Parts: sequence; structure tokens; C-alpha cells
Amino acid sequence: MKKGLSRRNLFKFMAVGGTTAVAAGCEQKPEKIIPALVPPVEFEYMPNTGYQYMTTCRECDSGACGMMITAREYRAQKAEGNPNHPLNQGALCALGQASLQTLYNPERHAQPRSGGEVISWEDAQSEFVSLLQQSAGQIVYLGRPTVGSEGAFVDNWLNEVGGGKRIAFSLISRAAEQRACEIAFGRSDLPDYAFENAELLVNFGADFIETWGHPVQNGRRFADMHAYSDGKKNRCIHIGPHQSLSGARADEWLPANSGTEAMIALAMAYFIHQRDPRYDFLDDYLSPYSPELVAGDTGISVDKIRSLAEEFHQNSSLAIAGGTWNSSEQATATQVAVFTLNAVANNLGKTLR
Ligand code: SF4
Repeated sequence: MKKGLSRRNLFKFMAVGGTTAVAAGCEQKPEKIIPALVPPVEFEYMPNTGYQYMTTCRECDSGACGMMITAREYRAQKAEGNPNHPLNQGALCALGQASLQTLYNPERHAQPRSGGEVISWEDAQSEFVSLLQQSAGQIVYLGRPTVGSEGAFVDNWLNEVGGGKRIAFSLISRAAEQRACEIAFGRSDLPDYAFENAELLVNFGADFIETWGHPVQNGRRFADMHAYSDGKKNRCIHIGPHQSLSGARADEWLPANSGTEAMIALAMAYFIHQRDPRYDFLDDYLSPYSPELVAGDTGISVDKIRSLAEEFHQNSSLAIAGGTWNSSEQATATQVAVFTLNAVANNLGKTLR
């Protein structure tokens, strides 16, 4: 690499870029950003003395938890949540806790390989450069969704090496939810789900404790909502064919037939809309989805859909949706159905905002 941009410096450069992008949005200009990246050397050389770095976890696509790494004698020894970070408030999920495995797991690739054989870094670099030169203009960079200035950095790099295409890939994409938000609310964005304001959470398959959205923040908000307090306990209903870890934490699991989540959401919305019409333009949209018409396909009885809709309407409630179907052709329609259910139950601006 040119101009002393070593692998180590590359990561530092990207970290500074991200910090700069965030700082640009703040009113108060930071006077020093270097101390966030350069370790406190007066501790680094003291034997047996641990010190902490503050950084950000990148183990999942939300990539947003504040992380505190304890290092000693140049080696990271423990990953914990940054107690002062507003999102995770000191917590890390199992993925974040296990992130040190990328440094120390004996099964990791510690050396470059070519054709299955371990090769030196020098050979790998010249082979890589030669491949780049042969493929200029046709390079495909396949990576995870980027945060901060990382995407712009990769795009610049692709331009410098002759041009190509960057593809972001995520197994647990929320693109359908974003598209549904645009259809339902005219804004291509992801809403905030205020679990803690709900007395009844109806979950259409989202594994919110393990993978959906921001698992650490979800877990904290769910604990706030679901804990026994003031002599009562709020309820969570899990709807879907698969009982995930999040489903196992629910008070009730309704094993609906696969792919019928949207029908159940719309049947509940129909029931509520009949009693409390809030948006006239939904009459035609909801009319084919009465509980009587859809119950047979969903595997959930008419009475159960009605009683759940009644409970959803009478309490402060929230419906969320996610899961494996979220990458299927039905994903956007299902998310729109769940947004509609929240809208007819008057949840907009309260638990969905
Ligand atoms: S939710 Fe877990 S994996 Fe994702 S950023 Fe937070 S600690 Fe890391």
C-alpha cells in the first residue's frame, strides 16, 4: 500500500473518518479526536496493568453498541458494554461478548491463503495486486452494510484500483420494513418501537432478542415492558410457525401457519376498524380480511383472532414483525399489514414512532 497506509493504519483511518462524519453533525466541535484512537501510553508499558479502550461493536449489522475493551500488555482481554453508552448502557449480547474470538480463536485464519495453502503476507499482497490489475473495472466488492464513512472509503478504493461495484449483503435485511414504512407513512426509514410503553406486545415472528433490529436495546426495552411491576405484568404474544428465543420469552405462542402473518394482522385490524373506524380509506383494503374469512388459512381460530384484537385495542399495544419470511416476497406486504394494525389501534406516535 502507498504512503505508509498499513493494515493497522487503514483501520485507524476508517475510525477517524467515522468519527469525523459523526462530529460534523454536532454543534460543538471536538477539540481532540486523536486521544480516542491512540492508547494512553503511560499505561501501555506498565506490566500487569489493565486499561480500557472505548470502541463500537461491529458484530451485527446494527453495529451500534458502545464497547469497552480491557487490554493488558498490548492484548485485548475482555469485551464489555460501555456503561455510558446511551443505547446499550453497559450491556453486550452474546455476539459482542464473543467478539474476542476473532482475535484468539485457534480456528481463525491467522495467515493469508491461496488455493487452500497458507502463504506469506508478501506473496498474498503481490497476488492480490495482480488480480486487481487483471480485473480492473469488473471488481465486485461483497461486504456487509457499512456504517459511518466506511462505504465512501470502499467506493474511493474501488475507484483507485480501476473501478467496480460494491454490494452490501445482509442475511437479516430490514429493507422490506423500510420500504413498507415508505408505503405506509411516506418516509423511507425504520420506526422506533417503544416496547416500554406497551402493555401488550404482539410479535409476528421477530427474533428481537437475538437478531432483529438492535438486540441489546430491544432486550432492555422488553425487560422494562415485561417485568412484574406495581402488582401487574404486561403481556407478550408470539405469532408464527417457529418459536425463537424471543418466542420462548412470550406469555403465549400462537403457532400460525407459515406465511399467514399478514392475514392475521389484517384480520385483527379489520376487527378493530369495525368497532373504531379511524381511517376511512382503509375500508376497502381491510374488507377481504375478516377473521371469519382468513382463520381457516392461518391455523388460528376466529375466536382467538377476535379476542386478541380486542385485547390489542383495549390496551396500550404494539405489533412488530420480522423473522425468516422477512426476506421473502411477502415481506413488504406483511410489514405494511402490521403497520396498518398499529395505525387502527391508535399506536402511531405512542408505541410506534
Ligand atoms: S447487538 Fe450485540 S452484536 Fe449487535 S452491536 Fe450490540 S453487542 Fe454487538
